[in-house]
Amino acid sequence: MRPLFDVAIIGAGVVGTAIAREFSKYELSTCLIEAQPDVGMGTSKANTAILHTGFDAKPGTLEARLLTRGYELLVAYAKETGIATERTGANLIAWTDEQLAQIPSIYEKSKRNGVNELHRLTAEEVYRAEPHLGPGALGGLFIPGESIICPFSPPIAYAKQAIRNGAELLLNHTVTKVEKTSEGWKLQCKEDLIHARWVINAAGLHSDTIDTFFANQRFTVTPRRGELIVFDKFARRLIHHICLPIPTAVTKGVLISPTVFGNVLLGPTAEDIQDKWDTATTGPGLGALIEKGSRLLPELLKEEITATYAGLRAATEHSDYQIFCDEQKKYVCVGGIRSTGLSASLGIAEYVVQCLRESGFHPVLKQNFLSVQMPPLGEHQLRPMENADWIARNPDYGRIICHCEKVTAGELQDALNGPLGARSLDALRRRTRCLQGRCQGFYCLAHIQATLETVDRGQNQ
Ligand SMILES: Cc1cc2nc3c(=O)[nH]c(=O)nc-3n(C[C@H](O)[C@H](O)[C@H](O)COP(=O)(O)OP(=O)(O)OC[C@H]3O[C@@H](n4cnc5c(N)ncnc54)[C@H](O)[C@@H]3O)c2cc1C
Repeated sequence: MRPLFDVAIIGAGVVGTAIAREFSKYELSTCLIEAQPDVGMGTSKANTAILHTGFDAKPGTLEARLLTRGYELLVAYAKETGIATERTGANLIAWTDEQLAQIPSIYEKSKRNGVNELHRLTAEEVYRAEPHLGPGALGGLFIPGESIICPFSPPIAYAKQAIRNGAELLLNHTVTKVEKTSEGWKLQCKEDLIHARWVINAAGLHSDTIDTFFANQRFTVTPRRGELIVFDKFARRLIHHICLPIPTAVTKGVLISPTVFGNVLLGPTAEDIQDKWDTATTGPGLGALIEKGSRLLPELLKEEITATYAGLRAATEHSDYQIFCDEQKKYVCVGGIRSTGLSASLGIAEYVVQCLRESGFHPVLKQNFLSVQMPPLGEHQLRPMENADWIARNPDYGRIICHCEKVTAGELQDALNGPLGARSLDALRRRTRCLQGRCQGFYCLAHIQATLETVDRGQNQ
C-alpha cells in the first residue's frame, strides 16, 4: 500500500505541475496524479505560446493578480532554467473606430494592473513597426513586456523539478472517485488507491467534474476550441512582434505571432463546443483564419503552412479563475483557468500554497531546493549542433537527425533518459522539437521511431 501523502494534485498540466513544484519546496510528501501517459498533454500542449503580462486582464480579479505575478515569476524561471522565451513585445492594433475608441481605457486598465510599460501608437508608427500589415490599421498600443515562450517546456520543467525534489508522479492514473477518510481523502484510480491529507484539483477541462466529487457544484466547463495555423519559417521575416487585435469579452481575438521556434502562428479561433476531447481542426475554423489572416498580413498567405492544431480552453460561466480553498474539507479547486494559464502558472501555484498556509497548514521550507536545466530549443539560443563545447563532450550533439528543426542524436538521447524520459513520439516531439518542422517527420520519423524503441530494448537507460 502507498504511504499517506500530505498533498495529492489531480492533473499534470502546466497548472498542476507548477503546483507540485511549489509544494516540493517544502518538507512534504507530494503526489501528482495524471490520467495521460505524460505531463502537459491536455490544453497545455495546444495554446498560442504567449507569455502575457496581464495588461488587459480585468482589474481586481484573481486572474489579473495571479497573471501579473505569474508573468514576473515565469520570466525569471525561464532565465534560470533555459526555457526559450523572446521579449518581442506586442502591438495591440485598432482596425475600427470602435476599437480605436477603446485604447484609452485599455491603457488605463494596464496601469491599474501594474503594467506600466506601454506606449500609444499612431497608424504611421504601427506600419513602421510592422510594414507588412494589411491596410486599415488606425493606431494601437505597444506593450514591450509581452513575450513568446516555448509552451512545451514549462510543464516538463516543473514536473522534473518537483520529482528531483521528492514529489511522486503517477502517470496513466485517472481519478474516478473520492472518499473521505479520517485522515483526509482516498482517491480511486482504477486498481490503485491513493491516500492524501489535502487534495488539489487541477484537472483543467475536467475540473468541474472533479469538483462535484467533493460535493460542490460551482461552475461548468464549456470547452472553447481555438484553432491555429503554423506557417513555415520563411514567413518569420514578415512579422517582428506579436500583433493582437483589441480583445472582446469572448476572446482575445485572432493574432499573428512569431514563435520561439522561428515559425509564425495565426489564430486562435473561439468556438464553444460540448465535447471535451474534440481537438480536431475544422474546415470552417481554418477557413475563417485564412480569411482574417489575408486581411491582417496578406503576404502571410503566400507562405507554406507547416501544421494546424486546436486546443480547448476551460471556459466557464464566470469570467474569473475558479479557485476555492475548502479548509474544512482540505480541498482546493483550481478550475476555469481559461486562456492565460501558461503565463499565470507559477502565480497560481504560489497562491495555492498561500491558501493552505492561511488554513493553518504550515509546511517547513527545505534547506535545499534542487534546480533543473532545460535544453535550448529556441531559435535565438545556441542549439547543441552549433555548440562546439557540447559536441566535444558528446559527438552525438553534432549528428543531426531531424534536419528541419536541427535536432541531434544527443538531444534525442537526453530526452529519453532521466526522470520523465520520453516514452512516445509525441513526448519526444514536445521535448526536442523533432517532427515539428516543415517535413512533419517525412524524412526522420523512421530513425526517431527506432531510437525510441531502444528504450524498450533497455539500451537507453
Ligand atoms: C487555443 C488556446 C490558446 C491559448 N493561448 C495561451 C497563451 O498564449 N498564453 C497563456 O498563458 N495561456 C494560453 N492558453 C491557456 C492555457 O493553455 C491554459 O490555461 C493552460 O494550459 C491550462 O492548464 P491546466 O493545467 O489547467 O489544464 P490542462 O493542461 O488541460 O491539464 C489538466 C490535466 O488534468 C488531467 N486530468 C483531467 N481529469 C483527470 C482525472 N480524473 N484524473 C487524473 N488526471 C486528470 C488531464 O489529463 C490534463 O493533463 C490558451 C489556451 C488555448 C486552448
